[in-house]
Amino acid sequence: MSKQTIRDLDLSGKKVLVRVDFNVPLTKEGAVSDDRRIKAALPTLNFALEHGASLVLVSHLGRPSGKPEEDAAFRLDRVAERLQELLGRPVTKVNDTVGPEAQAAAAALAPGGVLVLENVRFNPGEKKGDPTFAAALAGLADAYVNDAFGTCHRDEASMVAVPECFPADRRAIGFLVEKELQILDTLLKHPKPPMVALMGGAKVSDKILVIENLLPKVERLLIGGAMTYTFLKAQGHPTGKSRVEADKLDEARHLLELAGDKLVLPQDHLVATSLDPNAETKVVAGTEIPDGWLGLDIGPATAAAYGELIKNAGTVIWNGPMGKFEDEPYRKGTVKVAEAMADSAGVTVVGGGETAEAVEEFGYAEKMSHVSTGGGAFLECLEGKSFNSLKVIPDR
Ligand code: ADP
Ligand code: MG
Repeated sequence: MSKQTIRDLDLSGKKVLVRVDFNVPLTKEGAVSDDRRIKAALPTLNFALEHGASLVLVSHLGRPSGKPEEDAAFRLDRVAERLQELLGRPVTKVNDTVGPEAQAAAAALAPGGVLVLENVRFNPGEKKGDPTFAAALAGLADAYVNDAFGTCHRDEASMVAVPECFPADRRAIGFLVEKELQILDTLLKHPKPPMVALMGGAKVSDKILVIENLLPKVERLLIGGAMTYTFLKAQGHPTGKSRVEADKLDEARHLLELAGDKLVLPQDHLVATSLDPNAETKVVAGTEIPDGWLGLDIGPATAAAYGELIKNAGTVIWNGPMGKFEDEPYRKGTVKVAEAMADSAGVTVVGGGETAEAVEEFGYAEKMSHVSTGGGAFLECLEGKSFNSLKVIPDR
């Protein structure tokens, strides 16, 4: 699993194309609201610069439609500005990816220079993995580094076809990808026992393969979030108006059988009369959600019980909020488990878009062993999948 890293590359005087994941959340006004992913790339970028390289940075941002008037919001200007502040050196941003402006700016790069290309998904060749587009992109630099962990599960041109344009000794992973892979590899292969997994979030369907792959490795699999109600329904309990995936009941039953007593469902629930943050709420104990109510968070007894199991674990892996945490009344369960993880002496790893956001927002990120920058990539790693984007990077 030991891949060639940026340490193995000849960097001095070279132009290095770094595929980064600057797919950051933006405010309505277009400002960068969370720069965690930009900061996470800095060790790689600074290393290359300190070793005499110049940088051609490639990233996507959001899901642009391809219509110029709609795509303005997905330009990388604000990201480049933030990067310039964080690097403390000038950053040039161009308005195309492989066109004449990009070519001229890349050609003009001197050692220590930093160039940010326009959102790579503006070009239709990116999603298609188009070899002509890939060759044009690769033509801007002498070497390739993949430091875009959050995109590693994608087969887009900048992830697979572009590195294939470079000789094997000029392809590498960056420090962020290296760190994320190392942590997940250790977690899946040699976790410090006992390992507890905490799974929540919106849909059980997103997490079935993760649950299947983790089950043999964990002591306990603690369930929270909306997926609780698909499991309860599958067991034949009334779930009121709670969010249930009616077409996933058989799969939920299969997981329940597979897991036996490893899988722990909430023993109480915070229920509300609607999704509204101001709806009437109450706590119900047991496994039955009354008619007219929906479960929006784990209850206090569940949060306390999960907290104890988390504190006593050797390893805790968490994906998926325990409730509709975006609204203040429904976040207590998520806060409680985050707090327990922060207090745990064990190895604590958090991943998933919303889960990482919650941990960050509640101020526990620094107290975790690791908060992954990956959403889909993190989940696919937990499913035990391997990525084409990494197959094209040679082993050391
Ligand atoms: P992640 O991005 O961390 O993998 P998911 O995307 O699976 O997590 O789920 C996050 C979403 O699940 C949050 O937006 C949260 O509001 C929602 N959610 C969690 N529990 C509930 C619930 N009981 N009812 C409705 N929505 C919920
Ligand atoms: Mg999500």
